[in-house]
Amino acid sequence: MVDKVFLVTPRGFCAGVEMAIKALSWMLKIYDETIYCYHEIVHNKWIVEKFQNNNVVFVEDPSDIPYGAVVMLSAHGTSPSIESAFNEKSSLTINSVCPLVTKVHHEAKRYTDKGTQVIYVGHKGHDEAIGALGVSPKNMHLVENIDDVEKLNIDGDAALLAQTTLAISEWEPIMMSSKNKFENLNMPRKSDLCYATTNRQSAILDVLPNVDSVLVVGSENSSNTNALVKMVESKDVKAYRIEDTEDLKKIKIDGNIALTAGASAPDYLVFNIIKELKPIQIVNFEHKNEDEYFPLPKELRNNVKLIASFLEVFNQSENFPEKNNGISNDKNWSATEALNSL
Ligand code: SF4
Repeated sequence: MVDKVFLVTPRGFCAGVEMAIKALSWMLKIYDETIYCYHEIVHNKWIVEKFQNNNVVFVEDPSDIPYGAVVMLSAHGTSPSIESAFNEKSSLTINSVCPLVTKVHHEAKRYTDKGTQVIYVGHKGHDEAIGALGVSPKNMHLVENIDDVEKLNIDGDAALLAQTTLAISEWEPIMMSSKNKFENLNMPRKSDLCYATTNRQSAILDVLPNVDSVLVVGSENSSNTNALVKMVESKDVKAYRIEDTEDLKKIKIDGNIALTAGASAPDYLVFNIIKELKPIQIVNFEHKNEDEYFPLPKELRNNVKLIASFLEVFNQSENFPEKNNGISNDKNWSATEALNSL
């Protein structure tokens, strides 16, 4: 039996995920045809299925789309060559990359242009790592652990960049060992681990003294969800990643638990889990309040404005009811509302 659920804040959607979900929702409102999305828009099974049921097809390669298709590129970032291939084949490609991932792409390009070799800490095969490494494939070296750093053979200057969603507990040892191995290692002033990743991890560390175990809501392929689990386990506390209420049947938990969610998991799932757990008490555990906001991709904003003004001219603005609620007041329109509007 669960006594207390410590409901941790911040949890769930970050500003990048909010933006990407709203961007894809807008695409569905503007265009009647199927929208092809490169990679899962965000790594959450429930959200992916929601979009699949609303005429979005997720693809892994430009060859998977028909000529003239309308395309969206996911929040995880796309390599320049893949983006060009989509541009060549599509009638329109909108890039919903998170600006914090773009920052890493810019760093990779800047170091490459200076002739500095880039060590990239990330997970092999993860969408974000694939996109970042594609910025400069010949000049970037993927490392996943300290052993990989030891095997590196780099002449000249080196720089260290990272996937935004790593666990602090996996990033720090790799950073230390890289600093030891490469004198004058270049690094961005601030680590590439994003604010949402570090806030969620600090919050869960903060709550640990109060609880017997931790539930992390999120999908198997969500890197920041797995990072939360790793972070808790590194403190010898039991952590379970769960997709939804079905997964509760597979585990045995009691006492006091902390409940959090990866950056791509909707709060709808979190509250379903609380209902199922039926705790004696719910404690709101606020570590930090987040108010980051990322605007929709510029090309999308321009398209929506154009269509909205066109409809106004023809007195058809009632056909586009989200006009005032969405694009002109986007900051106050949540990804949850966008998903509910589909
Ligand atoms: S987890 Fe961080 S980098 Fe990834 S989408 Fe969210 S804010 Fe952007």
